[in-house]
Amino acid sequence: MSEELNKTELAEAGGKTRLYVTADLGEGVAVTLDEGQTHYLLHVLRARAGNLISLFNGRDGEWLAEIAEAGKRGVTATCRKQTAGQHGTPDIWLAFAPVKKTPSDYLVQKAVELGVSVLQPVFTRRTIVTRINEERMAANAVEAAEQSERLTVPEIRAGVSFDKLLASWPTERRLLFCDEGGDAKAMTQAARESRGGPTGILTGPEGGFDPAERAAVRALPFVVPVSLGPRILRADTAALAALAIWQSIAGDWS
Ligand code: SAM
Repeated sequence: MSEELNKTELAEAGGKTRLYVTADLGEGVAVTLDEGQTHYLLHVLRARAGNLISLFNGRDGEWLAEIAEAGKRGVTATCRKQTAGQHGTPDIWLAFAPVKKTPSDYLVQKAVELGVSVLQPVFTRRTIVTRINEERMAANAVEAAEQSERLTVPEIRAGVSFDKLLASWPTERRLLFCDEGGDAKAMTQAARESRGGPTGILTGPEGGFDPAERAAVRALPFVVPVSLGPRILRADTAALAALAIWQSIAGDWS
């Protein structure tokens, strides 16, 4: 494997091509890439045998892998060197009322970059969207994890009703309820108080939570109503602002 070829190829591939795989990774392990990844490597990056790519699977860290075969029968890459040991992201869940397509794609991508560990869509009374494309969400999450150099991809859960979310929420996990209705703690303070424990953030849809939902969630012992300031944020803005504050105070930004 000649060095200059790799430096050139790596430069052409934009420095580092990182791909998420489900296969085990380890010294000398050959991994067969899926159809989409094969197309990307062969036809977008014009990769060929001998080129280097990075692989991660959420369990075995990150591995530099050499493309062993790149042709009609697909692409296989052999793990050569572990370049990062496995580590996760802080234990922060985001329960969010899905909004229309583009903001939802955006919300998922940004939440992954912001280190969320679980994405839980929740259908509230005023949620306009009636169904979510979980496959699309998962693909967006993988792409964002690859780009943001995470070593894990967040768990994407099936959408649930608001009532089901509250009924099944693990009571040991504090739930920061983003409530624009006032009478709520500053997010910074709530984040400080949540340090060290499992936490979740809940945001509502374009039309907000209805009064019965607000009363129901505020009545629960593990819920902390939080404010994101004096202005009304769009649903996706609120989710990302809350995550950013939490990461900087209680997560892995500090
Ligand atoms: N209720 C307003 C409405 O009917 O248009 C706005 C809802 S807002 C677009 C969507 C969600 O973002 C809210 O349900 C809440 O979870 C969160 N949010 C927006 N601004 C907020 C703020 N200043 N403080 C706390 N949460 C906020």
